[in-house]
Amino acid sequence: MELKTKIKKTLEKIKKEDKEINSFLVLREEKEILKDAENSKGKLAGKIIGVKSNICVKGLKTSCASKVLENYVAPYDATVIERIKKEGGIIIGMTNMDEFACGFSGESSAFGATKNPVNLKYVPGGSSSGSAAAVSAGFCDIALGSDTGGSIRNPSSHCGVVGLKPSYGAVSRYGLIDLSMSLDQIGPIAKNVEDVALLFSVIQGKDEKDPTTLEISKINLEEIKKPIKDIKVGILDLEGLNYDERIYSLLKEKIEKASEKYGWKLKTIKLNYLDLAVETYYPLVYVEFFSGTRKFDGRKYGKKIEEYAGPEVLRRVFGGSEISKAEYRGRYYNSALKVKSLITKEFEKAFKEVDCIVCPVTPRLPWKIGEKISIEEAYASDVFTVPSSLAGNCALSLPIGKIDSLPAGMQIICDKAQEEKLLRIGRSIESLNE
Ligand code: GLN
Repeated sequence: MELKTKIKKTLEKIKKEDKEINSFLVLREEKEILKDAENSKGKLAGKIIGVKSNICVKGLKTSCASKVLENYVAPYDATVIERIKKEGGIIIGMTNMDEFACGFSGESSAFGATKNPVNLKYVPGGSSSGSAAAVSAGFCDIALGSDTGGSIRNPSSHCGVVGLKPSYGAVSRYGLIDLSMSLDQIGPIAKNVEDVALLFSVIQGKDEKDPTTLEISKINLEEIKKPIKDIKVGILDLEGLNYDERIYSLLKEKIEKASEKYGWKLKTIKLNYLDLAVETYYPLVYVEFFSGTRKFDGRKYGKKIEEYAGPEVLRRVFGGSEISKAEYRGRYYNSALKVKSLITKEFEKAFKEVDCIVCPVTPRLPWKIGEKISIEEAYASDVFTVPSSLAGNCALSLPIGKIDSLPAGMQIICDKAQEEKLLRIGRSIESLNE
């Protein structure tokens, strides 16, 4: 299809269907998008791209789906956006999300919940809810999300699409509005591994504006197309954790098929301290989020956060302020850092034995929009995604089929800077269906 027609059709579809799904907060003018399309040359030529509303795009509202930044128009492009534009990517708009990326279901946006395009009665997952929903609904080819403890992987799993959380430092965070700076990563969401790899190859790499970025070699897109043989796969032992057995069985079925086809060796692998991961993650996030949000005091950027944010954001701001008080020093934040390093060491040990670790992305299927979930249960949605975030590893969320007509996902985790191998494994599993 000619690019101009593709864009017009996509915009028509969004205008018709997104009233219900609510995946976009900002949609650019058709004539501006068409103008960009005329100069769309490079690796991303012709690709329509959605951007999570916490990543700065010059001239567009980057509201973090919050009343606090409701009228904030980014004055500059995040590094990932600069790179996307240079390679001809066509940005069509800003996607909905959980407010300030604090969430798991897409329900905490100040501008209304996003619905799951697979079944509109269900949540799409979060916090990159709009990005995953937009890809799943066919509103864009690729979308950018951010992942601190699971926010790319969780909604990708719930919406039946592919999402990559890169290793910490693999992608520049310059221009990303922080949730927790020691854990946040920007990454791509798309319908297939190839498009995820393509966008990752464009945004990855050292950036002098973000000193935490690492010099990691560029992934080779041709390599990713080739199935990977003779690897060792660790199936994560989930003993002691709560999860839906049906997701785990589906995952094992898939991995056994892959093992037969490609000669992969399978073994069960145990990681200690998994039961502490969520309890470790939240104090870190609360403290870093509290610190990062001190700039939202109503003077320079938007409105005062304490006066305008929703309940989940306030829980973290007030909780973070408590934990940060001098009298608690060493009790929460420092203990959390200690467990973080224990979990990191568990992964390092495991990756001496296996090439990757597989487990479910989420412990349960998407829930119904508005269903009452306790905060503990909601925080537990991240039980399988948080460990690799704490360790800084790369991880992929891959659709593996449906249970009760709702999508389920497999998470594949590889060691730091092993994105090429991770994507090859993902692509090999994906191609079992072809
Ligand atoms: N659900 C997690 C949280 O609320 C993850 C958020 C994220 O990865 N941005 O913190």
